[in-house]
Amino acid sequence: MPSLTKRASILPLALGLGWAVVWATLLGPSRALGAENFIFYFPSRHEALPLRQIDQSGYLPLEKTLRLFGRPVNKRERQGRVSWRFNRRQLEVRAGQKRVRVGRKRVDLPFPVRHLDGEWWVPISFLTEVLGEIIPDAMEYHAGTRRIFIGEVEPNSFELRFDSLPGGARLTLQFLQQTSISAAEEEGNWILYLGGHPLQPPQPRFEFSNPIIKSLAFDDQDGRPKLILTPGPDQMTLRPLLAEGGMVLILDVARSDPARTAEGRTPRAPESIAPAPAASGGPVVGADSLPAVVLDPGHGGIDSGARGQNGLSEKDWTWRFTYQVRLALIATGKFRVVMTRNGDQLRSLDQRAITANTNRGAVFVSFHLGHTGAGQRTVAPYIYQPPFGTTTARSAGALSFVPWEEVQNSHLPESLRLAQYLRDELAAIEDIAIREPVSAPVRLLRSVDSPAAFIEVGDLSSLEDSGDLEDPEFILQLAQAVVRAIERFSY
Ligand SMILES: [Zn+2]
Repeated sequence: MPSLTKRASILPLALGLGWAVVWATLLGPSRALGAENFIFYFPSRHEALPLRQIDQSGYLPLEKTLRLFGRPVNKRERQGRVSWRFNRRQLEVRAGQKRVRVGRKRVDLPFPVRHLDGEWWVPISFLTEVLGEIIPDAMEYHAGTRRIFIGEVEPNSFELRFDSLPGGARLTLQFLQQTSISAAEEEGNWILYLGGHPLQPPQPRFEFSNPIIKSLAFDDQDGRPKLILTPGPDQMTLRPLLAEGGMVLILDVARSDPARTAEGRTPRAPESIAPAPAASGGPVVGADSLPAVVLDPGHGGIDSGARGQNGLSEKDWTWRFTYQVRLALIATGKFRVVMTRNGDQLRSLDQRAITANTNRGAVFVSFHLGHTGAGQRTVAPYIYQPPFGTTTARSAGALSFVPWEEVQNSHLPESLRLAQYLRDELAAIEDIAIREPVSAPVRLLRSVDSPAAFIEVGDLSSLEDSGDLEDPEFILQLAQAVVRAIERFSY
């Protein structure tokens, strides 16, 4: 397993790329008969029925389907037709006919009902078009998929991002809902079981034209939602990391360390995919014990902050930049990251401080972009400067009430150390002018109950002219430096 410092140093290469749309191949409809299942997800159970592909549609066994939802009674079967009394409605279908009778209503299915091997089969759309009329529950069905969500079931999903790393590749999955994972190895693939909660993947399968990772497929044919990660032909090692309380899954795949192979270990042995032990960067699941870093993307909502000549607003840039810092911090496996806003949201300074203070022991960094007038790339770190005459330290041992506006005072020495590390790491970027940390009456910082710094990147006009604000390389360097400073400060 690579050391943490190594992980930290390879990570920022991922930064410049956005959540890429990955080329994918949808599983075609022509599959072997009877080889598939269709999964029904109910609020507290799931059921699988065989799915048959006939012509252009998947077909479900009608009577078995009805039995999942209730009790069909009074079955009458004669002359190529069958009927039941079901949920106080009369249901009748005919072999070879698209028309279905539901009580007094007639519903036309896109494909005809079939009577095969003594069983009645209906196209999948029967579920939403006919059954949906008879049962009281809501249904969520995505055309072309092999699963349906019934009632209060809210399927999880994810966004996928692919990044190339030196000697490896990384998949980052951002889930909609918390998940947990367990991993296993089967026939050269890694199977990642996703905590049993129903999931609707954005696509059934992602294919990568990459020597490290061939594909990532979703499968729940047995009712257990899982991802199947297929590596390239070489010997590979997988390091999965579940971060952000189960919201982000990072899958690092690398060519196996030759030294380790020489020791006689099988590179794909189950232990190589076990959750990272706490000693090497914290547990994979339940990372709540990790130290928190609170990142504050300046401004948001109707507060746009500074504006560039080409319409760029500070709030958008700070959001994008802070998001990159967040991903980079998560991938170190050493931190839990909290953002003070979710997207383009207006949050007051006090709300931001409260977010910081509900995460005890956190490091707080606020990011801004400004018209500094310097006419070149600059970064200025700030810490809070209390008004003249206030105490800068709490009296030892006294259980005194600390006024909200003096909360930061007792942290100032540590805040200065944080700002100095930020200064040192940012100073390593080429062609950048960096200021020594400045104490200023930054109102945002005064109520933050942890080491806190504020960074202003500038000069907005010249960065806009040079294209630096959109330059992935520059943003990467900045984010890298911030992550290094926070690591140095925390460890
Ligand atoms: Zn600002």
